[in-house]
Formats: sequence, C-alpha cells, structure tokens
Amino acid sequence: MKEINYITENFGKYDVFSIDSYMDIGGFASLKKVIAMDTEDIATLLTTAKIKGRGGAEYPMGRKWSQAHAVDRPHHCVVCNADEGETCTFKDRELIKNDPFNLIEAIIIAGWAVNAEDGYIYMRAEYGSLRPRLLNAIKQAEERGFLGENILNSGWNYKIHLYSGAGAYVCGEGTALIRSIEGKAGRPRMKPPFMKQSGLFSRPTCIDNVESLSIVPHLLRDAKPYMEMGQGDSIGSKMISVGGNVNRPGVYEMPFGMTVRQIIYDLAGGIQGDRNIRLIQFGGVSGKISDSRVLDVPYTYEDFAKNNLIIGSGSVLVIDERTSVIDFLRYTQDFFLHESCGQCIPCREGNRHIRIFLEKIKDGTYTDEDIKTMKTFAKVMPMSSLCGLGETAQNALKSAFEIFPEVFTSNRQKSMEAVY
Ligand code: SF4
Repeated sequence: MKEINYITENFGKYDVFSIDSYMDIGGFASLKKVIAMDTEDIATLLTTAKIKGRGGAEYPMGRKWSQAHAVDRPHHCVVCNADEGETCTFKDRELIKNDPFNLIEAIIIAGWAVNAEDGYIYMRAEYGSLRPRLLNAIKQAEERGFLGENILNSGWNYKIHLYSGAGAYVCGEGTALIRSIEGKAGRPRMKPPFMKQSGLFSRPTCIDNVESLSIVPHLLRDAKPYMEMGQGDSIGSKMISVGGNVNRPGVYEMPFGMTVRQIIYDLAGGIQGDRNIRLIQFGGVSGKISDSRVLDVPYTYEDFAKNNLIIGSGSVLVIDERTSVIDFLRYTQDFFLHESCGQCIPCREGNRHIRIFLEKIKDGTYTDEDIKTMKTFAKVMPMSSLCGLGETAQNALKSAFEIFPEVFTSNRQKSMEAVY
C-alpha cells in the first residue's frame, strides 16, 4: 500500500486564489449536483461511506447531518471547526492551504443538506496567514452566485463568515468554540442543550471538522474509488500527520488498512538515526500511547479499538529512545495544565497534582501512596470533568500504566532505570 490522492486530489492542480481555475478542474460541480438532490440522500451517501468525524470525536457524519436537518426549528447554521489544536496534527492546515475552494464548496453543501442560513469557519489563531485565501474564496463564490441570495436559482440564501480563535486548545470543543464566536470567554458548557437543537447564538447548529467536510465534494463527484479503498468498516482514505523523530515528518493521505509500520517506515522514512522507538502516540495529545508492539496493527477504527487505541485527530507522533516515558508524560501534563480552562475542579486540580506526581517519579522521591493516588485521579478525572479536555487528559498516562508498568513500580531501582 502507498500514499494516495483522493481527498488531496486537487492539491497543486489549480490557482488557490482563482475560482475560474478551480472551476476548470470541476469545482462546484458537486454543489450543482446537490441542489437537485434530496437532502436525505446526501446524508445517506455519507452513511454508506461510513465517514466518522475527523476532528477526533469520530461521530458518524451522515447521522449528524440527518439529525441536524430533522430539527424543526428555524435559522440553522453550520460551523466548520478549523481549530486544529491537537499536538502533531496539521492535516487541516494543508487542506485549507492547498484546496480552499473545495472547503468552501463543502461548507455550502453542508448548509444545503441541513437547511442552514449561515455557515461559520472557526480557524485557529495560528493559521492567520491562511485567512486571505479563505476570505478570497468566499468573496469569489459570492460573486459567482454560489453564496448569497437565491443560490443557483434555488431560492435558498446562505452566507459564510470567517472567525479566528485566540489560541486556546479548549476552543476545539464544540460548546467552547461557539461561545468564542459569540464573543464570550471560550469555556465549555454543560450539555444538554445539544448543538443540533441549540448551539451558536441558540440556533440549531451542525459542527464538522475541515477534513470531514473536505471529503464531501469528492464523494459527490465520484464515490466509487473511495468505496473501493479501506478495510472492513473503515472505508476510504484518511489524512494523517506524522511527526516526532521520523525522517520525513508531514501530512499523508493513505487508505485505511495500512499498518503502523508502513506509515512510520514507508511513508515517514523511518526513525532518525535508525534508533529504537520509545513510544507512539495516536490522535493528538489527548490520544493513547503504545510502543513498537503495535507496528503490525492496521490503521483502521476496528483494529485500533481492539488494541485500546484511538485514531482521533489522525496524528501519529513517534518518540525515539532518547526521550523517557516519564519525560514525555511530563510534557503532556504541562500542556493540559496550561490549557485547562479551570472551570471544574477534577480537571483543574487533577492535572496539577498528576504533574507533581510525575515530577516525583522522575526525581525518585515518590511513595507507593503517590502512585496509588495518581492512578485514582487518572480514573476519576474522565468521569467527573465537564468536557472532553478533562475526559481525555489522562489517556496517555492511563495507557502508560499498561504499556510501561515498570515506570510506575514500587521498585525504585527498576523505575529509575525505566525513567532514564
Ligand atoms: Fe475546563 Fe477542564 Fe472542566 Fe473542560 S474539563 S470545562 S477544560 S476545567
């Protein structure tokens, strides 16, 4: 198996500042097709392709669109979540950079499918240099009648608005994201009400990730090649970001079913200096970790679940033997400590205390009681935190308890050997 170009088909094939250039390669043909389709048929296509949300939540996209369309309230809106904040995750940036018109076409299609009046793009602050190309794509789409009033003589009115975040990781969480667009502090809120009923500005809201949306125009153009790729229930292809101590870090599109070994050694060129792998983290900083024992696991939702892993945001972070497990966990914990919004006690205090315990393990000053308490915190936090950040902050630590038990042993000598 090798790298493929289905979602990335348009990369390098048109001038990203010219709608004419995009239309020359078939751009907006999918939108024209969709306007003549039954909206439920669009959701059915996504369900048949078994597309799951590519931001990390893995919620079935067809079901989401179908549910959003069925909400019997006016003024629906669509939100494109471009707040790509997971560590080692930069695939959405490439989609925005190399194919902005495809994303705009996808957001218009989503608007039609869920009967929305407005589309919003919420883009992370760090991607500010990409704003001009999206604003240009929106403006040119308006000038050609793909946005605005009476789109393609359908009687449907729809606009797209672009917002930038202010650099908070937690704003990738849906409820924090909409609060940020509303001009409030980007802090998550309790659910219900659910987004589909009352989201942005209390309107029915359907949120999708950049990659999830970007697939749609391609699928509408020609679904057959997509359906023929993949393995089991993991149909099609996936964009992944590979980083860390590999020779060729970068973004790759590959068919589901490639093994972790093929991803690391064939796509990313292997480990720098031919060193050994210490650990691999999948799905961003909130993902689980393992080691070289998973090299022959196929990259599919089912195989990952069997191995207690998650695909999540699609990142593959490879850490070589120069970094200890405990140092990796300390850096991870620093991240969550910094990014927790502090609203609820289990997340705010749990992250702080676990960071202290990890420091004690590194120094060799921990007690057995510290290990026990740390394990309790890691178990309780996901059950008692308000949002996904607190729920997933200890995923790496919890998987480390299983994969690297020697680091957390009461045998200090053994533990210190593992740490250094
Ligand atoms: Fe904030 Fe953490 Fe609570 Fe989420 S879990 S609301 S980030 S304190």
